Amino acid sequence: DTLIRFDGVTKSYGSGSAQFQALKGVDFEVAEGEFVSLMGPSGSGKSTVMNILGCLDVLTSGEYFFRGVPVSQLDRNQRALLRRNHIGFVFQGFNLLARTSAMENVELPLVYRGLGRRERNRLSMAALAKVGLEKWAHHHPSELSGGQQQRVAIARALVTTPSILLADEPTGNLDSERSEEIMQLMSQLNREQNLTILMVTHEPEMAEYSQRIIHFVDGLVDPARSRQTGSAGAQY
Ligand code: ADP
Ligand code: ADP
Repeated sequence: DTLIRFDGVTKSYGSGSAQFQALKGVDFEVAEGEFVSLMGPSGSGKSTVMNILGCLDVLTSGEYFFRGVPVSQLDRNQRALLRRNHIGFVFQGFNLLARTSAMENVELPLVYRGLGRRERNRLSMAALAKVGLEKWAHHHPSELSGGQQQRVAIARALVTTPSILLADEPTGNLDSERSEEIMQLMSQLNREQNLTILMVTHEPEMAEYSQRIIHFVDGLVDPARSRQTGSAGAQY
């Protein structure tokens, strides 16, 4: 089933003579359970696409369908709900709170949802177990390696059981060995939990862990450079 559809999406920043069109009519679909990489040169529109996907920003024209729902028709509150209930984010810089433990970082989205302490502890430990870090639950980020910190960030993104994980250069701050570990984890979460993942990456080796590459050039999808990867079909 189609989870996401971009239909002629444009995005303009600024106004008047300062106006700049970052997306010029982007079309693509992502099926439930897919693991897709967004690639392309700096400035080609990948972050803009991720921001629209995550309901952090709104498109200028065209439509973004989430499970068939036209997202641009939703009001601010409905978009915030979509983001909260369906979308998990992981960033290049981990974005962990330094002065709290791994578990408290993972719990944070549940605090915002008003869950009680017991339920928060149970869910955050389960999320840490999924990324292999239950033994590190009470350590602070500074006591963890970069790869472990990114795994905490992934646990935090998954603790609310989102429909899709949006990862913006998740291995951008990691050495190649740690990067491979993170990609193996993401690939495993994709296969075993049927988690849909969209990942921005500049690294072709990392994109090979996904099943498909959507290649952006100058605010458009370049069909000639978009392709299935070697991983596609490997699990079937
Ligand atoms: P990428 O992620 O592929 O590097 P971006 O989506 O960040 O590309 O940017 C696409 C283009 O839009 C770039 O030229 C960038 O400078 C511009 N842009 C992105 N965000 C803004 C913004 N908030 N205001 C103005 N221009 C922006
Ligand atoms: P990256 O391409 O690595 O994601 P950037 O440095 O291009 O990061 O952009 C970082 C943030 O700044 C993004 O949220 C982007 O939308 C915003 N941005 C990028 N270009 C501009 C711009 N020309 N004016 C305002 N904001 C911008």
